[in-house]
Amino acid sequence: MAAAESPLLPVYAPPEQIFVRGEGCWIWDDKGEKYLDCIAGIAVNALGHAPPVLQKALTEQAAKLWHTSNMFKVKGQLDLAEKYTRDCFADVVFFTNSGTEAIEGSLKLVRKYHTANGNPERVDIIGFAGSFHGRSYAAINASGNPSYLDGFGPKLPGYLQATFGDLESVKALVGPTTAGLIVEPVQGEGGVRAASDEFLRGLRKLADEVGFLIIFDEVQSGAGRTGKMWAHEWSGVTPDVMAVAKGVGGGFPMGAFMATREAAKGMVVGVHGTTFGGNPLAMAVGNACYDELSKPEFMERVNVVANFLGQALEGVKDRHPDLVVETRGKGLLRGLKLKINPKEIQAKLRARKVLVGVAGDNVLRLAPPLVISEAEISHAIDAIDAVLAEQMAQAGA
Ligand SMILES: *Cc1c(COP(=O)(O)O)cnc(C)c1O
Repeated sequence: MAAAESPLLPVYAPPEQIFVRGEGCWIWDDKGEKYLDCIAGIAVNALGHAPPVLQKALTEQAAKLWHTSNMFKVKGQLDLAEKYTRDCFADVVFFTNSGTEAIEGSLKLVRKYHTANGNPERVDIIGFAGSFHGRSYAAINASGNPSYLDGFGPKLPGYLQATFGDLESVKALVGPTTAGLIVEPVQGEGGVRAASDEFLRGLRKLADEVGFLIIFDEVQSGAGRTGKMWAHEWSGVTPDVMAVAKGVGGGFPMGAFMATREAAKGMVVGVHGTTFGGNPLAMAVGNACYDELSKPEFMERVNVVANFLGQALEGVKDRHPDLVVETRGKGLLRGLKLKINPKEIQAKLRARKVLVGVAGDNVLRLAPPLVISEAEISHAIDAIDAVLAEQMAQAGA
């Protein structure tokens, strides 16, 4: 009996395909079937599958030095931190292995800031309903989503939930023990919802008045995903702290949290650490990936195809008003809110060799490699049109 069961912890329910090779936006299974990848490992393969520029960076580094730990200086960390801080609000960077680890570090930094200021009572973190910040205890408590929390013991104290997009709901929670606030400029898992510039500006103003810190969780929305390096750049609002991961390694597991020097004032020798974070392999790939993403012509191209995708999805909505409620998202992080469970549509698209994701709130999610072409987008749109038409025909029959 046990022999037939998977030796993997059954917390995922993946389809039968086993993928063995990828190139650009295409990915092949072990039977040789070819699929168009419009989800990119959930917004990770920013430069597509096995991009030559990252292969080169990784294999050259692999022949030299893999790991020393943070007991020693890692040259690639200094290089990449210099680039990140040159181009954004942050002054200091800490490299991690994952998005969750970046979130964990961000939250710790925020509380430590207030302790360093002599206000250790300021511990409360405000998060938003529908958010996702990872699966560690701090991350699931910051998100507050019951489906991530249930069965894992008591909710941690010091985490409060407001309503995404509703500044008044935030104001109602702010008080003398508020330490910080964590928000995704574009909610990914929760249903591909972009925060308005006005909302982000309101949060910034409130934070400055009350003296709490803002964390932007750009784990999914960053690394060029919305057509700017970081999604918050669209609004002109800067955070005090930012967590990144997913696309920044282009498929190599890495992330980072970064902050202004002022916000990071409590993070001194010995208070935080990681064994693997920022190791030479990750940094070789992270530097090469960032160099590509920061080419102006690269981001110009992302915006061209992102507009093309946005318009194409509007077309899908107009052609299928009985199934599609609205289009959502920004750049190449897009969603179609459906009137039905998107999982069925996702499976039918997979049968047509197009891979997409789903998100909360009945949303079909697209987050293709940033190097996707108009022709590839049209290929995906044709498949979506066909599947939705088939769905309507079935419902009508
Ligand atoms: C994926 C994600 C995380 C968690 O990142 P992991 O690398 O899976 O730990 C955190 N925040 C957001 C917004 C994400 O999309």
